[in-house]
Amino acid sequence: MNHTAPGRPTSAAGLSALRAAVAGPVLTPEDAAYATECTGHNLLHVPRPSVVVCATRTEDVVAAVRFAARHGMPVAVRNAGHQTVLPDTGDWLLITLRRMPDVVVDAERRTVTVGPGARWDHVLPETGRHGLAPACGSAPGVGVIGYTLGGGIGPLLSRRYGYAADHVRRMEVVTADGAVREVTPDGEPGLFWALLGCKGNFGVVTRMEFGVFPVRRFFGGGLWFRGEDTAHVLGVWRSLLEGLDERTTTSVAVQRLPPLPHLPPVLRGAFVLHVRVGHLGPAAEGEHLVAPLRAAAPLLLDTLAERPHEEVGAIHVDPVRAAYVTETTVGLRELTAGTLAAYAELTGPDSGCPLSTVEIRALGGALDREPPVPNSVPSRGIPFVTFAAGAGGPSDAARMTGPLAAYARRMAAWGDDRSIMNFLSPQAAREEADVRRLFGGQRYDRLAAVKRRYDPGNMFRLNHNVRPA
Ligand SMILES: Cc1cc2nc3c(=O)[nH]c(=O)nc-3n(C[C@H](O)[C@H](O)[C@H](O)COP(=O)(O)OP(=O)(O)OC[C@H]3O[C@@H](n4cnc5c(N)ncnc54)[C@H](O)[C@@H]3O)c2cc1C
Repeated sequence: MNHTAPGRPTSAAGLSALRAAVAGPVLTPEDAAYATECTGHNLLHVPRPSVVVCATRTEDVVAAVRFAARHGMPVAVRNAGHQTVLPDTGDWLLITLRRMPDVVVDAERRTVTVGPGARWDHVLPETGRHGLAPACGSAPGVGVIGYTLGGGIGPLLSRRYGYAADHVRRMEVVTADGAVREVTPDGEPGLFWALLGCKGNFGVVTRMEFGVFPVRRFFGGGLWFRGEDTAHVLGVWRSLLEGLDERTTTSVAVQRLPPLPHLPPVLRGAFVLHVRVGHLGPAAEGEHLVAPLRAAAPLLLDTLAERPHEEVGAIHVDPVRAAYVTETTVGLRELTAGTLAAYAELTGPDSGCPLSTVEIRALGGALDREPPVPNSVPSRGIPFVTFAAGAGGPSDAARMTGPLAAYARRMAAWGDDRSIMNFLSPQAAREEADVRRLFGGQRYDRLAAVKRRYDPGNMFRLNHNVRPA
């Protein structure tokens, strides 16, 4: 955890005016609730801004942005706190959004409208009631709007329907001038295009409406093998990928699991290869599809079954508790036998790898296609992405840095310049040149032009930043 001093406190008079304008709490480092409000999913980076505005309504966001503009402060937002991009300290303002978790389903139009505090686990029971499903990600505790602004790739619907961002219909956005804008493909086409893919660079999204799909049930879950069988099972998994139907999504992860009581006893403290499968089709079809995998090696655990869509989190079983995490990600332009051999060598039984999870997700299908209303998602066409993370206590972070860097360096042989925005670590794309490479020159220039129009002073710069042109 960082122990640096928080940002410079803002003047008392300024703060009382802000408190008068905001319905939710306004916190500074002296307040008892400040530390909890600043703590997210990754305990290694707990941001310490000068002021935290705990928004309860759009007007609070407007008041916070206007206050920041008057004081020349950069602004960042946080909902469920799953992406650590915020600085440890400095004179900046954080708007927290978790007190605005509204979810409204319009079953007839097959749309959902959410407030900026909604997480997928707020949405799933509501859509499930109507036999509908959103293009959510692997972890139901993740925030809906942050996920969607970063593109949003999921373990079940994405290869069939594309990025979550591709299904957004409209947004309400507070921009750097304090204006509340209704952003639609017709009303504000540039801003609509830029927000969906480039995350928090252009303003605070205070409402989002998106399309959902008629999916009630799916076949899926996980197969856990002994880590010692990694190389062999990977070979079988690779052949499954040949000609994979868009209705099937799969990924693998070599994991060194902690001995946590919420894990099934067989997985506590275990070294495993976790193969994840999600299939949008009848169970019999799914069973047939996974038969070669089940036969590949002795199984420690098999949770593949037909399930209601609300159980989509059972595919990855991502960690739900906050932890000290160091991470890296590489978008892969191909996954050859050589890539898998390097993966098995760096993570396998004789590697001494200390990382808790090293995963490869197969993308493709609809994720490769441009949606009817284009957006700025840069990763379209990347067939695979790999993500690695080391967890543990505060003192373990240093031990993870070397292996993470070595893994990223080796994977770079098959790497693409582009990557999945949602998986970028705080260290990734710090420099303008890196962000430009991530988006590609043409897309970056277009983003920078939108930025000049809506945020010329670069108020929203505490992220993977696109500078105003
Ligand atoms: C365990 C785990 C599993 C994950 N699985 C997936 C996955 O399957 N697919 C995938 O695509 N991603 C995945 N992610 C990444 C996740 O989607 C992003 O980190 C997402 O931004 C998290 O949103 P949040 O609200 O939880 O996080 P926060 O840290 O609160 O927000 C992250 C960033 O999103 C932006 N943001 C959030 N809300 C708003 C808003 N209202 N207006 C403007 N900007 C906003 C800001 O830039 C903010 O810094 C996963 C992350 C974790 C930790």
